[in-house]
Amino acid sequence: MFPPNLVEACISQHRTEMQKPENSTTDNIDYWEPVQKSVSGTNIMGLVVFATVLGITLGKMEEQGKPLLMFFESLSSAMMLITHWVIWLSPVGVLFLVAAKITEMQSLDEVVAQLGMYFLTVLIGLFIHGFIVLPLLYFIITKRNPYVYISNLAQALVTAFGTSSSSATLPIAINCLEEGNNVDPRITRFVLPIGATINMDGTALYEAVAAIFIAQVRQVSLSFGQLVAVSITATAASIGAAGIPQAGLVTMVMVLDTVRLPADDVFLVIAVDWLLDRCRTTVNVVGDSLGAGIVNYLSRNELASLPHNAQAQNGADHHTTTSI
Ligand code: ASP
Repeated sequence: MFPPNLVEACISQHRTEMQKPENSTTDNIDYWEPVQKSVSGTNIMGLVVFATVLGITLGKMEEQGKPLLMFFESLSSAMMLITHWVIWLSPVGVLFLVAAKITEMQSLDEVVAQLGMYFLTVLIGLFIHGFIVLPLLYFIITKRNPYVYISNLAQALVTAFGTSSSSATLPIAINCLEEGNNVDPRITRFVLPIGATINMDGTALYEAVAAIFIAQVRQVSLSFGQLVAVSITATAASIGAAGIPQAGLVTMVMVLDTVRLPADDVFLVIAVDWLLDRCRTTVNVVGDSLGAGIVNYLSRNELASLPHNAQAQNGADHHTTTSI
């Protein structure tokens, strides 16, 4: 998590391996020595930790940090534009990638069956998380019916499913929360944009399952430690994913890298990704919206005590009803 050299962290990772001492005759690993090794691959965790620290620092520097912040924002917009162009090519690209993978397969039936099970696992996981775990959390904290709250979000959920994009769904989600669920605009306009960018429960869940699935197809068995690393990296990667269609597929390369699987193997799951993307985006929007509802409930006293004009300013032309 704390790389000694940032440039090196872009191309190599540190690993500790147990090595048999030269003059030793024992095969018992307890008597072997730990050796630090540098292996090829990106140290994603180290880069994410550094980026987080740099982000917090730039925020603290205020005016002085603005030029660097603008540089990164501009670089990010440029990358988004390039990604957008690449996405336009994806229908043809994916056709050939999938065709190439299919011709490589020794037993197509087996892989199709495996892909079906993977698809089902992600769907069941998303359902449990989005419609049982998150609503339960909302209910425990607010003591209100989460399903009424979710049903008022129907328009946003349909949009999320249709567009596969949390960002494109943002205006509709804000509207559903303010009009349908009486969430204060000061909360929706602060929590939802942050949520749409960094809080992606569905994406994190899918990335972890996909990485484990790919490891199983490649017959790589993962240790408990590696499973924990997959979960942590999947969460970090979902934070890094933009709220656009199939962004999770791109950041999944980081998760695969953690367990040293080749980035190319993403193509094993690409065939069903267009549909899974819609489902995970819907869960991402459910997570953001329930989060906003919880923050709204926990902030009810502060919201009530803030001066009325601040409320009017932030709430633009919407009614600012605080649901207490
Ligand atoms: N499409 C997802 C979203 O916009 C991101 C992803 O998982 O690809 O929330």
